[in-house]
Amino acid sequence: MNVEKMKTQLLSLADTFKDKESELTDLDRSIGDGDHGVNMERGFSHLKDNIDDKDMASLFKSTGMTLMSNIGGASGPLYGFSFVKMSSVVKDEIDKDNLKVLLKTFADAIAQRGKVELNEKTMYDVVERASEALQHDEKVTLDKLQGYADDTKDMTATKGRAAYFKEDSKGYIDPGAQSMVYILNALIGDE
Ligand code: ADP
Ligand code: MG
Repeated sequence: MNVEKMKTQLLSLADTFKDKESELTDLDRSIGDGDHGVNMERGFSHLKDNIDDKDMASLFKSTGMTLMSNIGGASGPLYGFSFVKMSSVVKDEIDKDNLKVLLKTFADAIAQRGKVELNEKTMYDVVERASEALQHDEKVTLDKLQGYADDTKDMTATKGRAAYFKEDSKGYIDPGAQSMVYILNALIGDE
């Protein structure tokens, strides 16, 4: 994927999160404070005025900075930091190998910043499993990503606000896992 195509993919997330605002809000209302939909919509709506398309690294860095200052909540710093981290490994043409590096960097950034492991019912469950699938040369489709998010339903949250719900967090998809599905789907594109 080249810079122009990635820019289109990232900007299209503004529409995606507008469409999915109520879905994410409902999920976060069940096991959080009900702001995740609004947070994601706000963050990505600022992208068109702040995105720097000089090269791929600038694209990712400006996206990270924009998300960091506009999403808010726990997810803003997590997504923002990850895009800034990815900016240091991304190439101007993202091929299969670079995509593997990119997703590994994304997953490691969330783990580092969130101090999170697998099966704690967060966005990390989706990005880590997607990264592992790519390393094994599996195709990561939207259906597969959604499957990873759906799997968080049976988990008990131990991180973030959802952890206050303890066992009651079971039965709901984690809101951040669901937003991660849309973000990864945009990054992976048709690869
Ligand atoms: P807040 O919880 O501050 O209201 P959001 O609602 O925007 O922030 O985001 C909540 C999402 O953030 C959760 O669904 C979860 O996926 C993610 N999250 C929260 N804490 C962590 C953490 N320590 N590590 C990874 N992800 C986390
Ligand atoms: Mg919230």
